[in-house]
Amino acid sequence: MSANQFDLVVLGAGPGGYQAALRGAQLGLHVACVEREPALGGTCLRIGCIPSKALLESSEKFAEARHALARHGIQTGPVELDLPAMLRHKDAVVAALTKGVEALFKKNRVTRFTGHARLAGPGRVVVENGAGATELTARHILIATGSKPAALPGVACDGERIGTSTEALSYPEVPKHLVVIGAGYIGLELGSVWRRLGAKVTVLEFLPRILPGMDGELAAEAQKLLTRQGLEFRLGARVTGATLTPGGCRVEIEGAEPVECDRVLVAVGRVPNTENLGLETVGLAPDEKGRIPVDEHFATRAPGIYAIGDVIGGPMLAHKAGEEGVACVERLVTGYGHVDYQTIPGVCYTEPEIASVGRTEEQLQAEQIAYRKGVFPFLANGRARSLGQTEGRVKVLADARTDRVLGVHILGPRAGELIAEAAAAMAFGASSEDLARVCHAHPTLAEALKEAALAVDGRALHI
Ligand SMILES: Cc1cc2nc3c(=O)[nH]c(=O)nc-3n(C[C@H](O)[C@H](O)[C@H](O)COP(=O)(O)OP(=O)(O)OC[C@H]3O[C@@H](n4cnc5c(N)ncnc54)[C@H](O)[C@@H]3O)c2cc1C
Repeated sequence: MSANQFDLVVLGAGPGGYQAALRGAQLGLHVACVEREPALGGTCLRIGCIPSKALLESSEKFAEARHALARHGIQTGPVELDLPAMLRHKDAVVAALTKGVEALFKKNRVTRFTGHARLAGPGRVVVENGAGATELTARHILIATGSKPAALPGVACDGERIGTSTEALSYPEVPKHLVVIGAGYIGLELGSVWRRLGAKVTVLEFLPRILPGMDGELAAEAQKLLTRQGLEFRLGARVTGATLTPGGCRVEIEGAEPVECDRVLVAVGRVPNTENLGLETVGLAPDEKGRIPVDEHFATRAPGIYAIGDVIGGPMLAHKAGEEGVACVERLVTGYGHVDYQTIPGVCYTEPEIASVGRTEEQLQAEQIAYRKGVFPFLANGRARSLGQTEGRVKVLADARTDRVLGVHILGPRAGELIAEAAAAMAFGASSEDLARVCHAHPTLAEALKEAALAVDGRALHI
């Protein structure tokens, strides 16, 4: 095989692409991965999941030290923010993880190319960078080019005062007044970070609710809790423009007074990355939402070309992209690969966290599926009491006829960790009875899940 001839060439080294490349190498393929950024790991590691979670953890510790430690009998004296150090910590976490992917590529002999990748006909990819162009050939090509922030008409991002999540991960000082456009998980997480660090935060959302797609009842409860933390919500607010003013920015809202602020975070969703990808050279085109159409095995209409992750349909989540990358490559090599789309969890890492897996009540009602519901509040959970974090609850939804768990929704401390048990149970087709019969360690937050499962049958013990 010549130096630039591969079994598999992966375009993009985000969580979808890099995991596909690693799995391909494990299965014996000669694999290359092309990434245009100098660091591997994609949106998730560089400017998404990881840096946002680092800031969420740090800002939560700051808020805890200021407001919550005294309750535990710990007096700290004045607590001060060292924002440059907090940002350095975040950058160090990102650097460690992106270098980790680099090491994994080396260990698994994945050949890395740095530059912009473009399809150049069946089985051919051209990589362009400052040094020129390199042609790669491959039996299989996997497009994993991810997504970028969606633009909002009338709102011109200047990359500084008016920007996206990327800028909001590195503001050099705490904004006096941050306007967040969009109450999805990215807007709420980054809004929470800057609120905890002292900013006034106003969240403008076009829809009449926050966190569209998540369980409505828990989203409404989360909104109350976030409001109590100082986030201001204006729902049903249609933003028509945002401009720079001598003193900061002005955000225009249809039928309402404009809002003056010093920074704007546009968080209205993300769109797939397909520009200058050479799709036309293999007879492909994005659909009306900019996504690459694929079949259930991630195959595009062009032979030998596959796509996974944010660049195709489905929830734009790192773990969904990773599952798809692995399943796609496994199918190519072994003939079998599968993603269970019913059990992909979603988490919003606010305080408390909000986590979901499976169907919401709204979806079950729309699909006319009869269900039974069990709810258990963290107020009645011993571990939550010890933590001093008793807000929220667990909701288990089970099929009324078969008792099979159809959805689990959690608002509460460490909900993002707790949801893993629910996802595992659902992946094995568990009933609420199965969940309720599992012995859970005491005292743990996970006992709230067991109790909610018991509550489906009206027999929770601690409420
Ligand atoms: C602020 C923020 C927070 C988030 N938090 C979470 C979270 O907590 N949990 C979660 O599951 N998801 C989260 N996400 C979403 C998550 O980051 C994405 O769903 C995930 O990164 C998608 O993975 P991917 O591999 O499909 O694409 P990406 O991670 O976007 O990677 C695609 C890669 O392809 C490269 N690329 C694109 N075009 C080319 C080209 N032509 N040639 C070469 N390289 C190219 C890009 O540079 C990029 O590195 C968050 C996103 C943001 C913005």
